[in-house]
Amino acid sequence: MDFDVNQAAKTVVSELRELAQLTSNEDGAQRVAWTPIWDRAVEWFKGKTKAEGADISMDAAHNVWAKITGEREEAIVIGSHLDSVPNGGWLDGALGVVAGMGILRRYGKHGVKPKYTIYVVNWADEEGARFGYSCTGSSAVSGAMDVQTIENLRDNDGVRFADALKNYCLQTADFPKAHEEFLAKPVKAYLELHIEQAPLLEKQRKAAACVYGITGCRRQYITFKGQPAHSGSPITMRQDAFLAAAQASLGFRGLGLKYDAYCTVGKVEVWPNVVTIVPGSCRISLDQRSIDPAVLNTLVEQARAVAQKAAAEHGVQVSFESVWKNPPTIFPDKLVALCREAVAEETGEQTSMVSGPLHDAAEISKLVPAVMMFAMSSQGLSHCKEENTPDRELETAIRAFFRLADKAMQA
Ligand SMILES: [Zn+2]
Repeated sequence: MDFDVNQAAKTVVSELRELAQLTSNEDGAQRVAWTPIWDRAVEWFKGKTKAEGADISMDAAHNVWAKITGEREEAIVIGSHLDSVPNGGWLDGALGVVAGMGILRRYGKHGVKPKYTIYVVNWADEEGARFGYSCTGSSAVSGAMDVQTIENLRDNDGVRFADALKNYCLQTADFPKAHEEFLAKPVKAYLELHIEQAPLLEKQRKAAACVYGITGCRRQYITFKGQPAHSGSPITMRQDAFLAAAQASLGFRGLGLKYDAYCTVGKVEVWPNVVTIVPGSCRISLDQRSIDPAVLNTLVEQARAVAQKAAAEHGVQVSFESVWKNPPTIFPDKLVALCREAVAEETGEQTSMVSGPLHDAAEISKLVPAVMMFAMSSQGLSHCKEENTPDRELETAIRAFFRLADKAMQA
């Protein structure tokens, strides 16, 4: 049977709509991991791939693997995540899994036997939306998971992660076994298609891009301590912790612009948080990202200096608590070259870019050669029901991804 690439891309789009219909309400996608609607998405994936003749298996971290055996045992793995944030979009994560199903269909029971074995994987709980731990399934596989931390995490209703897993007959202590299970597979390459979640490609009127790396990240809390006082006290004689934090935050934005990097103050907590009291204490989060490890170090150092200067000007104390870090990911040249070619053949241009958001591919690239491709995002919106890519651009990106899989298959 000849492979009709245009029809295959259209089928992926209609299957994405089918999944959205099955797992969304009027507020958007509700495929939050470790909830019944996510289970429904996972069952849908298992049913669809089984119907194509794939062997389905689950690893110790609840990642789902759909396998089509090729002429060789060496394998190409294609994946992403079916889970979403609450009130999420129809494409984030789902695009990569459903595009993988499109590739699998080509080689399934109605198709030709592939040269290499193909796995399509649905990584469990990429978003961390319920328990706050991102890339759960893929970090179990990479070996980076902190099992101690994860089992005691609680959701907003106070349910422990370890207890929620009982519904799935899973134990966090077993999660690291997924690492061994992965290493037993002779994986040649990992490929992931995802939406951009930023407006750059739309601005450049491009449907798809090769992603050559994922930014590294440093996260810390910065606490400013001043003196609570009456809101009728003289302005020049205050030790206002909030103003110091606000001034520092503007400085962080300046660092982001200066170094072409990302600096985000996402969380602001003010004490005592009363209308008539000068804030005595203020804690902010700072998330800094860059593709360049040296720039990342500089960002952290200079943020410290910026915060200390702001604190001094407002007569308050400042302290720093680093909470999380992840090094930048640079995908290997060979796969990046194939990906750039695939994008160029479909769109006429060798577009490539860096991903600001983290993805499962960052975890998996710790073990095997990996690369990502982005599809354009309308207005860059994601993690909301407005998330979209027009059908024409979506199909172009899917066709480019099929080309990438072809190239990986021939390499
Ligand atoms: Zn995602």
